[in-house]
Amino acid sequence: MDCVIIGGGVAGMQAAFSCRRHWPRKTVTLIDAEPEVGYFRTLLPQFMVRTLAPSKLFFWKPEEDSRLVVRPGRPAAAIDRTNQRVILENGDKIPYERLILATGGRPVIPGICARSPGSGIFPIRNLTSARMVRKWIPERPRIVILGGGLVGVKTAAHMARPEFTVTLVEKEDQLLPQALSPQAAALVKAHLQQMNIRLITGHSVEDLRTQGADLKAVQVGGKGISCETLLVAAGSVPDVQFLKDSGLLVNGELAVSASLQTCDQNIFAAGDAVTIARDGNFTPWTWPQAVIQGKIAGRNIYATDLHQLNSLTRVNSMNLHGLSLVILGAPVAGAEVVAYSRPREGIYRELFLKNGRIVGGALIGDISGAGVLHAAMNADTEVDKNDEDLLKPGLRALRQVSIRCFKPERRVLFVPVKKTGSSRSVQSSVALPYEVQIL
Ligand SMILES: Cc1cc2nc3c(=O)[nH]c(=O)nc-3n(C[C@H](O)[C@H](O)[C@H](O)COP(=O)(O)OP(=O)(O)OC[C@H]3O[C@@H](n4cnc5c(N)ncnc54)[C@H](O)[C@@H]3O)c2cc1C
Repeated sequence: MDCVIIGGGVAGMQAAFSCRRHWPRKTVTLIDAEPEVGYFRTLLPQFMVRTLAPSKLFFWKPEEDSRLVVRPGRPAAAIDRTNQRVILENGDKIPYERLILATGGRPVIPGICARSPGSGIFPIRNLTSARMVRKWIPERPRIVILGGGLVGVKTAAHMARPEFTVTLVEKEDQLLPQALSPQAAALVKAHLQQMNIRLITGHSVEDLRTQGADLKAVQVGGKGISCETLLVAAGSVPDVQFLKDSGLLVNGELAVSASLQTCDQNIFAAGDAVTIARDGNFTPWTWPQAVIQGKIAGRNIYATDLHQLNSLTRVNSMNLHGLSLVILGAPVAGAEVVAYSRPREGIYRELFLKNGRIVGGALIGDISGAGVLHAAMNADTEVDKNDEDLLKPGLRALRQVSIRCFKPERRVLFVPVKKTGSSRSVQSSVALPYEVQIL
């Protein structure tokens, strides 16, 4: 076989499409542990609460390309680099000429949840468990979500419907602790509270109460919360255990170069599984990064001139049922903070600057100008923190940063992405509100 890909999430799928596009004579065989592949993982919350039709969940349909063979339901157990073979859990061996690893992340399940004998506890990570939740919750509508990171907050926002009671539990003192400053997180908190979501921060789930096999309550901060459903969104870690004897892991991490090559020149990797060794270690773990990395890995797999991943950012945009949010990057220790706020209107915009360059920030309530600021961050453009226009809503920042953002001989178009409907639009949770086109 020519190119084998392990993992049919967005990174693996994009790698497959890219490999087929750039190397049309090569066949691609993609294997995945799950029975279904090629779906929008980011839309699982909407799918679980039935606001998204099952048909809208998939971005790939089988048999569109005879040279792309997809084999779901086949977990890889190891790789044998000497003989260039992937060993499946069932003992089958798949030979490869080139290999792309895109096994993503697996959910962290705190011990108390893993030990429970009760039914009603589900990790939020894949379609297999999302299908179970979709069937389970109509009859068990009291829901506790453990974890106030991106996945937990998104899930809570989508579950905030009259038929459910939702409690979100976060062990840190604020929501989205790895993405937002306390000031920015306060707006998200207020928004979720308005949606009748009960929030408990500074505590975790300490105990579970079950009756027979059924979950009846959880204990948080010493108090019992009645619930029949516990959704676990306590983070994820790269799913690379099966590579432990492969010689590809460095301190337990799947390290790749900026061209997404591992230490084996025939093996590339992309998405949540990887740690990129450039300017220190970078672990992007976002959908947009998985897309771009998959594309580059698929292009590079047979190339001699390797493309590099230029954007080492974790930019993310979403709409939490009426609250627009763009995360340019998490707070950075030692960075200067520039902020703009209109509290009554629920608007808060902040940038983190180091040496006059944007290294992170968040736009909440009004995300206009996100494209310009993102481009300035990517291009390492110096900005004037004292210029009032820098963070004011609208495209005012354009005046300040666009001239210096790109090489003078290039022209830049900021193209607004068409709205697909109301603020509840499923697409808005993953797509940036603009496209930057460099001409
Ligand atoms: C509910 C939810 C909402 C999210 N929302 C957002 C969002 O709004 N914005 C954002 O940027 N990110 C979001 N994310 C994160 C985003 O989905 C991930 O960053 C992205 O899916 C990573 O893609 P990937 O292809 O690297 O990995 P994954 O999507 O995890 O895919 C990896 C695939 O590899 C397979 N696999 C693993 N091990 C093996 C093995 N040994 N053998 C065979 N197959 C294997 C898995 O079954 C899986 O299909 C969200 C995640 C979740 C769970």
